Amino acid sequence: MHTFYGPFTQIVTLRGLSLRGALKDEQLEIITDGGVIYDEYGYITSVGKFQDLVLISKTQNTCYVHIDEPLVLLPGFVDCHTHACYAGTRTQDFAMRMAGKSYLDIARAGGGIMHTVRATREASLEDLTDLTYARLQRIREEGITTCEVKSGYGLTVEDELKMLQVIADLKAESSIGLDLVPTCLAAHIKPPEFESQKAYLDYLLHELLPTIRAKGLSQRVDIFVEETAFDVENARYYLTKAQEMGFDITLHADQFTPIASRLAVELNARSADHLEHSTDREIKLLANSNTVAVALPGASMGVGDKFTPARKLLDAGAILAIATDLNPGSAPMGNLRWQASILAMYEKLSTAEVFAGITFRAAFALGRQDRGTIEVGKRADFTAFKLSDYRDILYQASHQQIIDGTWVKGKVF
Ligand SMILES: [Zn+2]
Repeated sequence: MHTFYGPFTQIVTLRGLSLRGALKDEQLEIITDGGVIYDEYGYITSVGKFQDLVLISKTQNTCYVHIDEPLVLLPGFVDCHTHACYAGTRTQDFAMRMAGKSYLDIARAGGGIMHTVRATREASLEDLTDLTYARLQRIREEGITTCEVKSGYGLTVEDELKMLQVIADLKAESSIGLDLVPTCLAAHIKPPEFESQKAYLDYLLHELLPTIRAKGLSQRVDIFVEETAFDVENARYYLTKAQEMGFDITLHADQFTPIASRLAVELNARSADHLEHSTDREIKLLANSNTVAVALPGASMGVGDKFTPARKLLDAGAILAIATDLNPGSAPMGNLRWQASILAMYEKLSTAEVFAGITFRAAFALGRQDRGTIEVGKRADFTAFKLSDYRDILYQASHQQIIDGTWVKGKVF
């Protein structure tokens, strides 16, 4: 049985656009009075003018759903970088940072990442599941249909596995309304129990990653490379070993110093995320690679730092995605569409570049090329807006009430 929805006031397909580089709004395909048909497996079989699809649907066993209000349909949004699984709050850190306190002041007051680590270690599997479920429901209501979620607040084998199990359980939960992509970020920061970075990374390589592979809990390994976290030499060692074990790799890179995106390119990582402090040299390297440059405007706003040089990256020919970095410390605000529109204002991005950055380019960063555009053969993942003009999606970026609903593999949420 096929399912046929229409007529939509506009369908913004995003098909036919380049994976990399700058995009102009005139390149967007807008189908007015459009329709879409997908099969029982949740894959698109037809997209086009509603009247043309009416004829096609008559030749198939099709369930027709009439749209009787103005709606604009886009591919479902993809948030390719979140830390949505955690317990506790960092309200005090945020207030202190806003008031100008330093990283060290906050750590001395009992804040910082280790505060979240302690709360997440103490939380039961059930409590952590409930907290994460509630957060993911908010993300779903913002029009997201695919969401990456990292571990990284456990920092022991037992606690990292607990986090990844929570994400796996929620991925299997039919009411979640999101396709979750789990990532192991056990190499978030060296816990104080370990003498050296190498000792901790060896512990992860020997004790944690083999179990993750055996249990199928994640295909992806991430590391935070920074002066306050892991250095390039240790990161290269860890990521190379992870690749040999069959993991895809991604890096937190160039957030405060331009040291890690070069390593991301060298190792052909899926993505290099942050890049607030990338220089022209790193931009050129990323532009000549298949490593996706992921801008995280929420992290720039959360720490009061500059934005990722998105305009320069696009003009150089890089693959640019935009994600929220939703986390309890530096980027608690979430809301992908609002963050992307703010980045666009500061970095002068076209609507087409913003849409591409939160759909098919973000999906590419996750190795999920089966989604992100509305075209035949792709997953029926959509977000519908109660609008008549697609440009209102970013014009009204902070308004949640314009979202009508989402489809994930053809299932309506
Ligand atoms: Zn992050």
